[in-house]
Amino acid sequence: MLTDNHNRVINYLRLSVTDNCNMRCQYCMPAEGVAFSHNSELLSWDEMYLLAATFIELGITKIRITGGEPFVRKGLMDFLHRLATIKGLEEISITTNATLIGEHITDLKALGILNVNVSMDSLDKTRFNFITRRDYFDVVYSNLLQMLHSGFNVKINCVVMHGLNTDDILPFIDFAHEHNTAVRFLEEMPFNGHNKSFEKIEWDFLKIIDHIQTKFPQIQRMNDSASSTSENYTIQNRRGSFGVIPSFSRTFCGTCNRIRVSAKGELQTCLYTNESVAFKKLLQQHAQPDLIKPLILAAIDNRFKDGFEAEEKNEFKKSMSLIGG
Ligand code: SAM
Ligand code: SF4
Repeated sequence: MLTDNHNRVINYLRLSVTDNCNMRCQYCMPAEGVAFSHNSELLSWDEMYLLAATFIELGITKIRITGGEPFVRKGLMDFLHRLATIKGLEEISITTNATLIGEHITDLKALGILNVNVSMDSLDKTRFNFITRRDYFDVVYSNLLQMLHSGFNVKINCVVMHGLNTDDILPFIDFAHEHNTAVRFLEEMPFNGHNKSFEKIEWDFLKIIDHIQTKFPQIQRMNDSASSTSENYTIQNRRGSFGVIPSFSRTFCGTCNRIRVSAKGELQTCLYTNESVAFKKLLQQHAQPDLIKPLILAAIDNRFKDGFEAEEKNEFKKSMSLIGG
């Protein structure tokens, strides 16, 4: 079992497979994009497999595939097939913008990869396309419905932005009821690739809950797992659920069980800090797990108490597509 220097069990790895993306969400990156890595800078699929296997040997039981947009990288499905064979890995999940997942739905189901988080910030086509700076609403909506009808455990992630999509909060609550699914509202974080930080946000998780209660006063807290980053609720006499993710308020750091590896193979032990270990070079030199493990253990033994402490030491706000969400 992996435990950090604050006695938190670490069993969850968010593995980014690319930093590239086919969307340009306003809260994630500028219209022109960011400095995406050249393919040669990314971990190869073999390197990623070896690294994942090493993390699993150390105690990681759950891996979430993220990006950038994971499905823009060729070879993802082959990699998932290999990853799924590693003993000790109990769950593989994916976070995606759902633009390219359509043709893989059957295969994913056959692999047992049913936990898919779909990022969707508006149910209004014009607004969705404005936020993402692309014209993919129809395909995203259709893939989302296909996954819901195919028995996937879909969670919709909606980043709430003042003046942009707060009118979508209640329609998403209705969507969750109609499709018996879960929608989670994320606080916006300053990881937009603009090097432009902000000290506070208008719509924090408390305001989002208050807003929902203006229409649905009867909400009930669900029994979330101890390490959950979301506070989840059901609404009396309605199906589905909603959650809030205080990613800016950082109320969940005390039970944080996750670490991240970027597509370039950099270990990041907190969203709000910089990378601590670069694995790419070592893997290129054919470093074996025995050499990599002590580096992972040392980084995990040196984690910040919370995202506020981490932020103090980290001035540059990257795009979330480089971090992996
Ligand atoms: N491209 C995929 C997607 O959008 O689902 C996976 C990567 S994306 C970086 C992962 C998650 O980070 C998405 O749910 C996205 O909404 C969220 N995200 C990106 N930038 C964010 C920001 N500045 N604040 C809060 N959440 C953000
Ligand atoms: Fe791409 Fe996801 Fe960032 Fe949107 S949030 S630009 S879909 S990586």
